[in-house]
Amino acid sequence: MKHVRLSLAFFLFFVVTSSVFSQKKPDNDRPRLVVGIVVDQMRQEYLYRFGNKFGEGGFKRMMSEGFMLQNAHYNYVPTVTGAGHASIYTGTTPANHGIIGNDWYDKESGKNVYCAGDPAQTTVGSASVEDGKMSAHRLLATTITDELKLFTQKKAKVIGISIKDRGSILPAGHMADAAYWYDENAGKFISSTYYMTTLPAWVENFNKLGLPDKYLSQTWNTLYPIEQYVESGPDNTPYEGKLGGKDKPAFPYDLPAMFKKSGYDILSYTPFSNDYLTEMAKAAIDGEKMGADEWTDFLCVSYSATDKLGHTVGPNAIEIEDIYLRLDKSLADLFRKLDQVAGKGNYVVFLSADHAVADNPQYLVDNKVPAGFMRNQNLQARLNDFLKPYFPGKEVIRSIMNEQVYFNHDAFSSDPKSGGMDLLIATELTINYLLQEKGVANAFPKSILRQGAYDEGGHKGMAIRGYNPKRSGDITMILEPGWYDAWSITGTTHGSSYTYDTHVPVLFFGKGIKQGTSVLPHTITDIAPTLSVLLKIKFPNACTGQPVAELFN
Ligand SMILES: [Zn+2]
Repeated sequence: MKHVRLSLAFFLFFVVTSSVFSQKKPDNDRPRLVVGIVVDQMRQEYLYRFGNKFGEGGFKRMMSEGFMLQNAHYNYVPTVTGAGHASIYTGTTPANHGIIGNDWYDKESGKNVYCAGDPAQTTVGSASVEDGKMSAHRLLATTITDELKLFTQKKAKVIGISIKDRGSILPAGHMADAAYWYDENAGKFISSTYYMTTLPAWVENFNKLGLPDKYLSQTWNTLYPIEQYVESGPDNTPYEGKLGGKDKPAFPYDLPAMFKKSGYDILSYTPFSNDYLTEMAKAAIDGEKMGADEWTDFLCVSYSATDKLGHTVGPNAIEIEDIYLRLDKSLADLFRKLDQVAGKGNYVVFLSADHAVADNPQYLVDNKVPAGFMRNQNLQARLNDFLKPYFPGKEVIRSIMNEQVYFNHDAFSSDPKSGGMDLLIATELTINYLLQEKGVANAFPKSILRQGAYDEGGHKGMAIRGYNPKRSGDITMILEPGWYDAWSITGTTHGSSYTYDTHVPVLFFGKGIKQGTSVLPHTITDIAPTLSVLLKIKFPNACTGQPVAELFN
């Protein structure tokens, strides 16, 4: 009996240890694949405004199977593309991740720099010189994608794709296998030497399909009869800009003629570039075998045409409604692919936007709503004239960008006995000037922002969370609601701390996520830590958001 018990114990020991030592796979209670979708310039309200025309497989599938935040906002200024993508993926704001705009005035070099620009890199995949001088080197914090790489000893595959370089590069992070974006000169997807020396065969093959030529050989007409677009304004209004050399902002769009005038760039203003990106996403899933094994992979997709078209025509245009109805079909197509490769319930998708968008100020004014156009270049010239008597022979204002005023610090006394008085005087004079300016609501000096509490409320809090001491300007302006900096009275833009720019969709569906909605307040920085909990990995290193508690199964 004793002998039997001993041998049974030995047998059990053998079974247990051999199964432990043969364990080569990770704890597989994780999604096989995460797909992060950013829709550039998407308002939360579009889900409702266009909702009755959406099909079942796209946006509506995310809502009916997954969890929707109805009250998710950006919590900093400026609400622009580079900062938005960086904030979604790092779970923090420009104060920490350092992407304070798309471009900003670099105080050290005295030149403007681009958020994804990197002179040390070169283009991979085309002869274009500037398009590939790109990397994530200006992003100061880790992304959720970096954290997945760190957790899996780099076994997870991380790929970023977008029409815009920054929409691909910032989400994919520093440790990505690859980021691909559209070369609008060559009409194909390229990368940079930050990631690789040559394009993989699947990308070469994808480029050889010449899809842009096919898309640009057709006429863009509305998906449904145009009289059904009752959720939008008239087709031809003075508030819309004209696309690529067209004589009026109205359907139909003769793409071959527009291609002749504007080249491959015109594709990126049409819904067909969303189809193109979706095909690229599917090719990446196949080419890289994403979601095929137990190591969670991460595909970052950012749809850019919604923003490029949105800037041109504004949110009331039929063109915008049509691009969203078509994007809905692209999403359904992508989700069908995910069902096939990873299996229903084995993957996670989230969808958000890098910012929303303002109404056209002229349209508001014409309808009795206060609004206006700030012209920062004019403002800079007038401010310099105003400051001349106090600083004779000096040009005190170097730049106004992203609603931030940068001083020329060489204009101030270098004598240590002056104790920084010049800077104080210039700051006070400038703020007083700005506050009497039509359209300026408030102005905060950097001394206030640098010492501000990160969780402070109101517009001051938005400025604090957008303020990075090394990179930001000397004064941050807040404009009145309805105002923005622009020369053109057509189209629209974004960048403010107001809800029309901050309120964006946040949708999750897939493994570990329950069905439902929440109207509790959330910030966009909650997306990354939510993914950390779903993936059971570290939060990004500078994360300031919190997981969305309501959405977990
Ligand atoms: Zn934009």
